[in-house]
Amino acid sequence: NLPGKVALITGSTSGIGLSVAKKLASQGVHIGLNGFAKPEEVTVIRREIEDQYKVKTFYHGADLKEGPQVKSMMQETSKALGSVDILVNNAGIQYIEQAVNFPEQKFNDIIAINLTAAFLTTKYALPQMLDKNWGRIINIASVHGLVASVNKCAYVAAKHGIVGLTKATALEVAKTGITINAVCPGWVMTKLIEIQIQQRADQYKISFEDAQIKLLEEKQPSVTPVSTDQLGDLITFLCSNSASQIKGSTYTMDGGWTAQ
Ligand code: NAD
Repeated sequence: NLPGKVALITGSTSGIGLSVAKKLASQGVHIGLNGFAKPEEVTVIRREIEDQYKVKTFYHGADLKEGPQVKSMMQETSKALGSVDILVNNAGIQYIEQAVNFPEQKFNDIIAINLTAAFLTTKYALPQMLDKNWGRIINIASVHGLVASVNKCAYVAAKHGIVGLTKATALEVAKTGITINAVCPGWVMTKLIEIQIQQRADQYKISFEDAQIKLLEEKQPSVTPVSTDQLGDLITFLCSNSASQIKGSTYTMDGGWTAQ
């Protein structure tokens, strides 16, 4: 059911988002990209996807902190590729500090990027999906949408928020051909967590590799990271017709993190 559909994946210039973009492209889906990257990097990503999967791509560099830029990304993506059938709200940032010292601007930025932007893209995408009575919205939350860790108050608040947004919006369109779900990964080895690994390496004076194991051991019982490929496969499944009755769910892929 996917060939010829149009997907917009926020934060798709690296990590999970880029992997999801490639997976959906491999199913014949035209790809709207977003995220920060140098123009030459964007060119390489677009060329690779277009050449390998023979689909169209479009890039919009919206800073998702800025509401008007989110709106123009939605408008320009549908102008370039056609109306958005699949929306993956993936962009996210992290900042680690205890609440008493947490910079207020950072808190607001995390809520804006990790939560408010997903509300805005959903608001602008839903009318297009309702017109076709088909749509998939997948919100990349986190295990931190279900449980907390210390020193991550803004991230945990935003991720719990996006789980709530997922449920509320899924219910509003439950009778239609649109599904809205959240995915909650545990540790995935991307740029987002490199800083956290390096901090442990510095703190315990150990190698980056040993610090990575230490990080996994703290929370993820499998002591194995989730791969971006595995997440791409889960998201592709959620886009399929087989998943049409999965509505307002939160799918964990966390090596057992939240089973504890
Ligand atoms: P990443 O840093 O590799 O990717 C983040 C993407 O978001 C990049 O493309 C970046 O350019 C983009 N981005 C950041 N700020 C932006 C802004 N203001 N406007 C537009 N784009 C912006 O990280 P990742 O690990 O691939 O993270 C993707 C998502 O997965 C995030 O929502 C993150 O919270 C979530 N997640 C990651 C992990 C993990 O262990 N890596 C675990 C659970 C959830």
